[in-house]
Amino acid sequence: MKCSKCEQTAVFESKPTGSSLCKFHFVESVERRFKQEIRRQVHFNNGNTTIGVAISGGKDSSVLLYLLWKTMKKKKNVVLKAFTIDEGIEGYRSEGLKTAERLCNKLGISHEVITFSGSFNTEMDQVVRSGNLQGSPCAYCGPMRRDLMNRMSEEFNADYVALGINLDDYSQSIMMNVLRGDYEKMLRMAPHKNRIKGLVPRIIPLRKIYEKEVKLYAILEGIEHDMGWCPYAMEAQRNKVRSLLNSIEENSPGTKLAIEGFLEKLQKHDIKQEEITLTEKCLICGNPSNGPYCQSCIRNGKAKKNKLST
Ligand code: SF4
Ligand SMILES: [Zn+2]
Ligand SMILES: [Zn+2]
Repeated sequence: MKCSKCEQTAVFESKPTGSSLCKFHFVESVERRFKQEIRRQVHFNNGNTTIGVAISGGKDSSVLLYLLWKTMKKKKNVVLKAFTIDEGIEGYRSEGLKTAERLCNKLGISHEVITFSGSFNTEMDQVVRSGNLQGSPCAYCGPMRRDLMNRMSEEFNADYVALGINLDDYSQSIMMNVLRGDYEKMLRMAPHKNRIKGLVPRIIPLRKIYEKEVKLYAILEGIEHDMGWCPYAMEAQRNKVRSLLNSIEENSPGTKLAIEGFLEKLQKHDIKQEEITLTEKCLICGNPSNGPYCQSCIRNGKAKKNKLST
């Protein structure tokens, strides 16, 4: 199979566009879409712009960091600061951490680690072993991770925090909010345009790049990444949505892009994200919340202890 743009052999076939691409044109296509998203999502200040980058060592966040570095390396007034959250998951996070550290060293980007144990006095292994889980491990881990991402980004005085969320993950999250009827949460999804007090805006420049494209890009560009899976990644609803969307995409290529585009239009034209954003303050940590306690304090047990002691 030949590349649709040159005489070289194609390494990738894009069903939504009907084109086949050689290595050069595939890399170019991913980088073009990435840069387009950076232009849409980041408003560069006249002075310095600092972007915190959450990296796990997995393919998505490693590709994110590499692409940010490649795109920004000539911009003298953009600073990238990477960090990894260590949730305390034995055998999984430690490998990712080493990979993340190596990539940061190679690219000359500073890297910090923030742990659940240091911040919440608990670890995910401990939370799961306690046997008191209400819902999936991710329902606990997610809000605590978001809390730490925000804390790290505030500490860096970052203008944005970048997350490695590919199109597959993003379209699944949109559909999960639709299935739960959670309109507000769906509209609050990243990318965030404005900073609201206490929350660093999240950007997701991989939102239009399919997971298989991220994987192939990592291989073609030689970006080392960890292939391990979190042993607790078993969110039942996400798994169902993932296989449903994969089978629809197979028959109607471009479906995931259409789902992403649907939310983008809603966010752009109909609703002001700031108006539906978290309007209260957590009574314990002071973070923005949509009730008396934020999700992080509810999940890490502080809200419960506080309620009992009052
Ligand atoms: S898969 Fe779930 S439990 Fe594992 S790191 Fe991600 S959010 Fe945490
Ligand atoms: Zn080509
Ligand atoms: Zn809180």
